[in-house]
Formats: sequence, structure tokens, C-alpha cells
Amino acid sequence: MKTLIVGGGIMGLSAAWALRRAGAEVTLLEQGALPNPLGTSVDQHRLIRYPYGAQRGYTRMVRDAYHAWERVWRDLKMTLYAETGTLVLSGEGDGWAASCAAMLREEDVEHLSFDDAMVTGRWPMLRGDGLKDAFYCPSGGLLFAEAIVSSLAAHLRERGVVLRTEAKVTGIDADQGRVTLADGSQMDADRVLVCAGPWTAQLLPDLAPVSRSSRQVIVYLQPPADLNAAWHAAPMLLEIGETKGFYLVPPRVTRDGMRTGLKIGDHRFGPTADPGSDREPKPEEIDAILANARHRIADLEQYRVTQAKTCFYDVEAEERFQFRQLGARGFAFCGSSGHGFKFGPVIGERITDALLEKAGFAETARWLAGMVDGDGAP
Ligand SMILES: Cc1cc2nc3c(=O)[nH]c(=O)nc-3n(C[C@H](O)[C@H](O)[C@H](O)COP(=O)(O)OP(=O)(O)OC[C@H]3O[C@@H](n4cnc5c(N)ncnc54)[C@H](O)[C@@H]3O)c2cc1C
Repeated sequence: MKTLIVGGGIMGLSAAWALRRAGAEVTLLEQGALPNPLGTSVDQHRLIRYPYGAQRGYTRMVRDAYHAWERVWRDLKMTLYAETGTLVLSGEGDGWAASCAAMLREEDVEHLSFDDAMVTGRWPMLRGDGLKDAFYCPSGGLLFAEAIVSSLAAHLRERGVVLRTEAKVTGIDADQGRVTLADGSQMDADRVLVCAGPWTAQLLPDLAPVSRSSRQVIVYLQPPADLNAAWHAAPMLLEIGETKGFYLVPPRVTRDGMRTGLKIGDHRFGPTADPGSDREPKPEEIDAILANARHRIADLEQYRVTQAKTCFYDVEAEERFQFRQLGARGFAFCGSSGHGFKFGPVIGERITDALLEKAGFAETARWLAGMVDGDGAP
């Protein structure tokens, strides 16, 4: 089967990987470079972790995701992942940690309850102020995102996938399986799959209600020298509250000597904006991220901001991934809502099964939306 994929982020590359493994002929069209530094998938790291609040479908999907990453590591002949463990915290008035813990108990995922003294005893760079619930999972870690995207692209080229860069798609005829490029040329295929991330609504305006491009800011920090070793051994930290909160990615040195930084960000959605322009974070946006973490990181004013960046989420209001059929031969994946990277390869495999008609479309779309019994399933 001849397939065309629009978009070279983790979703497009993962679909290309899985389609090629299944024997399809694959061409991928990317509007920028590969990796595209403006894409949502391109930063030092992305997190994979089991705690997912009360969302049973996505909690279960993490296990499938780990298995799919193992298949990727085998194909790449390297492991671009570091296990850190996951520390989940909630302050007064917030129930996220408690609902995560309840779900992990039901789904039999190992985790240990902590109190504030245990947290600050083990990680003295943290403050225990106002801490209501805390638990630690030995599982969870860092996916080295930019390295994964570039290694996957190199691997796909070796496997005979055609990767075209600076190839912006401007139109799709989903019934014919035809795409039109910015230079006016056209290409045909049996199946066209759009994985355009936060650019989805620009190419497919009908999907705007389930794919809002949300501007997010992240901040890289250099801790004081005496805390460096402690941070390099620290777990990822999630304090994802309704009104206040942040996530923290600890620094690591990878097996092959790559150094990644300490990063903080805010999972709450930002303003709608064009992912192709105005990428420079404003000082007040950086201050807002730091303010969210100040109650939890001791002496935060002694940390130096080394870099701040914007990145764009592709948001569906309930954070449920969207798989849409556009016509007889056209499909789109969108709405990864700031939590899709960890699932890239398993999503690529499931979408491949649907495109090759080994699995039903509706059943695949429901699974991608995280709908299992008791969690959104009709
Ligand atoms: C700050 C931040 C933190 C995050 N943290 C996590 C995390 O910890 N864990 C996690 O699992 N997920 C996380 N995510 C979410 C995750 O990164 C995304 O879900 C995932 O990267 C989306 O991949 P994608 O391929 O859909 O989009 P993208 O990576 O944006 O790829 C889309 C590609 O399509 C190309 N394109 C668009 N339009 C066209 C066109 N018309 N023609 C040709 N090419 C086109 C673009 O140039 C782009 O390269 C985070 C996201 C952000 C922004």
C-alpha cells in the first residue's frame, strides 16, 4: 500500500515507522527541517509516567507505550531513555495526587505514599509547605525527544522511507488520496495521514474545535553547584494542580555522555497563537513559570535561568487524542494536548492497523481518546 504522511513530528515519524514495518510504501512530507525546531516534539526531553489522574484509558496506555518503545530501541539499536522515577505532589485544596494514587492502586502500578517530612528528608532541595498528598513511583523517566526524532528519521531513511523536508502541504483531497504542495505539485496515495500537530487547524480548518494551538513556556534552570548531584539523582516531579502547579524534569547525563538540563513548565493551557511565529518568551511569561514552582523548590532565587522557550500544544478540550477520517483515503491524528510524545510509537502502531484495515476505525479512535469502561466509554 502506498501511504503519504504529512508532518515529521513524533506522530508522523512513528506512523511511518510502523507502516514501514508492516510493509507499506511510505513518503513523509515535512514543511520545515527534520527535526523541525518549531515542532512540538523537538526539545531535550519529554516525560513518560503512569500517574494520569483518574484517566484509566491513558493510565493503561502507558504500559502499551513502554512495550512499543522497546521495539523502537531494538530498531534504532540504542535506548534514548533514562528512568528517573516519578514524584507526585498535591497541595491543600487539590486532589490530583490522590486521584492518581487511587487509579494506580486499581491498575496495580507500584507506588509508595510519602508524607512531607519524607519528601524533604529524601530531597532536601524541595519544600514541604502545604503538602497534602505525596507518592513516589519507581517507574517513569525521560525520553530524549530531539535525539529520538533525529534517530528515527535516520533509521527510516535507511529503511527506504522517503522523507521530504521543506515540503509544505497546502491542500488535501481526502477522497482521491491526493495532496497539493506549496510549489503546486501534487502527490497521490492509497492512504493519506495528517499528523500536523499544532498546525492541524491551518491545514484542516474543520478540525479547529479539537486542535487549538496553545502557547506554552518552559524554563531551563542551573541549580546552585552544591545541589547539582542531588538534582542529577532526583525523580521527575509533578504537582499538576487545578489553579497552581508545575512539572519538573531533572537533569541527567545519558549513557553516551549527552547532558540534559533541569526544566520546569506548566501544564495548564496557554493562549491560542500561531506556532510558526512569535516564539520568544516574554519576561513576564518566564516569571509566571518560576512563580508556580517557588512554593516547592527551596531557594529558587539562587537558580540561574539558562534558557526559556515557547512550545505549542495541540489541544483538545478534554485532552483526548483525536483520530478522524476525512474521506475515503484521508485520516488525521491531532489533539495530543501536551501529553502525546510518550505514546508516539504505540499510536503509530494502532493507526497503522486501522489504515491497513487490521483494526476497526471507530474502535481505534475510541482507544486513542482514552475511552475504556468507566472512563468516557459510551
Ligand atoms: C512544553 C511541552 C512539554 C511537553 N511534555 C510532554 C511530556 O512530558 N510527555 C509527553 O508525552 N508529551 C509531552 N508534550 C506533548 C508532546 O510533545 C506532543 O504531544 C507531541 O510531540 C506531538 O507530536 P506531533 O507529531 O503531533 O506534533 P509536532 O511535533 O508539532 O509535529 C508536527 C509536524 O508537522 C509539520 N507540519 C505541520 N503542517 C504541515 C504541512 N502543512 N505540511 C508539512 N508539514 C507540516 C510541522 O512542521 C511539524 O514538524 C509536551 C509538549 C510541550 C509543548
